[in-house]
Amino acid sequence: AAKAAGRNRVRVFSPELRDSVQRKVQLASELRDAIADGGLTLHYQPVVEVATGRVTGVEALVRWQHPERGWIGPCEFVPVAEQHDLVIPLTRWVLGEACRQTAAWRDDGVPVVTGVNISAVHLVTGTLVDDVLTALQGAGLDPRQLVVELTETSAAEDPARAAQQFRRLRELGVESWIDDFGSGFSSLGRLVAIPAGVLKIDRSLVTGADGPAGAAIAAVVGLAQGCGMRSLAEGVETAGQLRRVVDLGCSYAQGFHLGRPMPAEEFLGWMRANGGRLDLSAG
Ligand code: C2E
Ligand code: MG
Ligand code: MG
Ligand code: MG
Repeated sequence: AAKAAGRNRVRVFSPELRDSVQRKVQLASELRDAIADGGLTLHYQPVVEVATGRVTGVEALVRWQHPERGWIGPCEFVPVAEQHDLVIPLTRWVLGEACRQTAAWRDDGVPVVTGVNISAVHLVTGTLVDDVLTALQGAGLDPRQLVVELTETSAAEDPARAAQQFRRLRELGVESWIDDFGSGFSSLGRLVAIPAGVLKIDRSLVTGADGPAGAAIAAVVGLAQGCGMRSLAEGVETAGQLRRVVDLGCSYAQGFHLGRPMPAEEFLGWMRANGGRLDLSAG
């Protein structure tokens, strides 16, 4: 009812609202413990170079094994982390774990480039570059084996600040990729001035690749090429979508059709079974 009353009305502080606030505060305190005590884990989703079928990378995706509620996905707890000053410690843990795992795979003869999702909050606090360096050094990882992913909207919030940090990261050898591209309504002129390596085309466009969204994908691919960037199609779920995004000239593809997010050991087995290369011509 408070919602229906509209934005300009005083919200009634209902018992349901109080409960939901209490739930969030409790979730935040449990999350703080999980970050400190190893309650989080990373799953890794393959990234495939479409010209060769080679699995060139993975995206690290955080999961939380909650003692009572079971597995909780990032859409539910990353916002909680952002609201309770936990996103920096969360991201430091993710960066450290992703770099450590990537170095271990390298030692096992499976070299990949690993993408880590970075919250907009991290750009604002200004510790991103230092946190990335600490993780790389801790793991003894080549910076070229790490990329950071920032969403279109977080990069567009303060493009000058984003550009400056992307430049410093690039000097270190770490590429920045723009996530969920085409899902916001950001200024293209300001976005293309940001020194990114890859535009990750949002799943909502890829899903509709057979319709008018195909023209939008073609435009993003052209935009990337014109600015010296590559492009990646996110959320490829069918052979038809894969064929379409390959035809449209995307450099990379990622999605359930190519590989689901997997625990680290499963990913290593999967890579050994397929020799690190997928046959993309197979339907
Ligand atoms: P994202 O970075 O765009 O990650 C892709 C999401 O799409 C992942 O969901 C992945 O499991 C899902 N996905 C991949 N392929 C397909 C597909 O073919 N179909 C469909 N329907 N979904 C697909 P997930 O793991 O639930 O992550 C959701 C979002 O949470 C991520 O979106 C990212 O924004 C955020 N996130 C994940 N891990 C982290 C993290 O470590 N730190 C931060 N700050 N955010 C994270
Ligand atoms: Mg991402
Ligand atoms: Mg994305
Ligand atoms: Mg997305």
